[in-house]
Amino acid sequence: MQVSPSEVAGHFYRLAIQSREHAFILLDAGGRVTWWSPGAEDIFGYPSEAILGRSLDHLFTDLDAQRGAPEHEMEVARADGPAPDDRWQQRADGSRFWASGLLVALRGEDGEPIGFVKLLRNRTDLKEQIETLRNQAAALDERLQRQERFLSTAAHELANPVAPIVNAAALIRNALRPTGDVEFALRVIDRQAELLRKLVHDLLEFSRIGMGKVVLDPRRCSMQEVLGAAADDCRPLMREKRHEFQLLTPGPPIDVKADPARLQQVFVNLLTNAAKYTHPGGRILALLTTEGEEAVVRVTDNGVGIPREVLPAIFELFTQVDATRAMSRGGMGIGLSVVKEIVELHGGSVQADSEGSGKGSEFTVRLPLVPGEHDTIEPAPRA
Ligand code: ADP
Repeated sequence: MQVSPSEVAGHFYRLAIQSREHAFILLDAGGRVTWWSPGAEDIFGYPSEAILGRSLDHLFTDLDAQRGAPEHEMEVARADGPAPDDRWQQRADGSRFWASGLLVALRGEDGEPIGFVKLLRNRTDLKEQIETLRNQAAALDERLQRQERFLSTAAHELANPVAPIVNAAALIRNALRPTGDVEFALRVIDRQAELLRKLVHDLLEFSRIGMGKVVLDPRRCSMQEVLGAAADDCRPLMREKRHEFQLLTPGPPIDVKADPARLQQVFVNLLTNAAKYTHPGGRILALLTTEGEEAVVRVTDNGVGIPREVLPAIFELFTQVDATRAMSRGGMGIGLSVVKEIVELHGGSVQADSEGSGKGSEFTVRLPLVPGEHDTIEPAPRA
């Protein structure tokens, strides 16, 4: 059933009369009020007779009116179609409320503007919720920054005593040439000091990255060299755990623009983890190749694997799988977040995959290649 234009007009009139949460306002071409709905009376506090014939300016805050906001809004509505209008508006008693609405220019048959419709709703509640959320976010941010500052200070303070402890132990060893229990005690001191040094180093590293203090020294570098150096760093641990370790890199050079020391740190972390979280006599493979415009490194192990539910959070600070805590060699769940930060600082990405507990893990690092020089390459065994 079709309704006639006058019936449509009637329905819209009823809508405007009956909807008390919305203000419907008709204005002439100069921006003076020609009609004012009951909802507008409720929201603005002006009875119809007090506002008819007065300018749109009366509904704006004094500051917005002085800045020419009403005229600007009409200009936008005339030129661009509906002008969105979310702002503080002013009631008859001078109080303010947050209005969300729009202003639409009306045109006659000949296309000339004949007036405007202003439609708005009091959304102070929404505005207050947004403000509250914004304040909460700012407070959280502030708290996070304070924690980062604390972490950094604590790490520096903890770092200071490590070198004197190691030096004092060396001094005792040289002076007394001890044997038996004393020598054993000195070895305990050495081992624990080394552990402490590593923990503090991880903490410092993370706080440096978190606070944006890492400055990269990027240059063109060879992925083969970076991976070779990282592999060399990790060989003693691989041997200690009797792992079968293989690094496969292709012959043609794969170059990226990167800070080689930082990249080496990424792969040392991944290879160390592969070695740590694989039972003795495991298999670890690092594979370099290219895919499209990226250098891709996959570090795969047949170790303890990562439970599916932990995978999404594995790169977050302090994430550790409960079952592998004993294998972490004093780690605190910082290494992988450092890996992610460094890779992302290079414009790359890192991903973790595992079929689940006991099924091994694979970490994939992707880095942008130096553009235009590489074809996709099949890896060949490295001598
Ligand atoms: P850490 O090794 O010091 O605990 P990381 O941030 O390097 O910290 O790793 C976080 C956690 O991720 C580890 O504690 C371990 O539970 C898990 N993980 C990392 N690499 C592997 C891997 N190759 N295989 C299985 N679990 C891993």
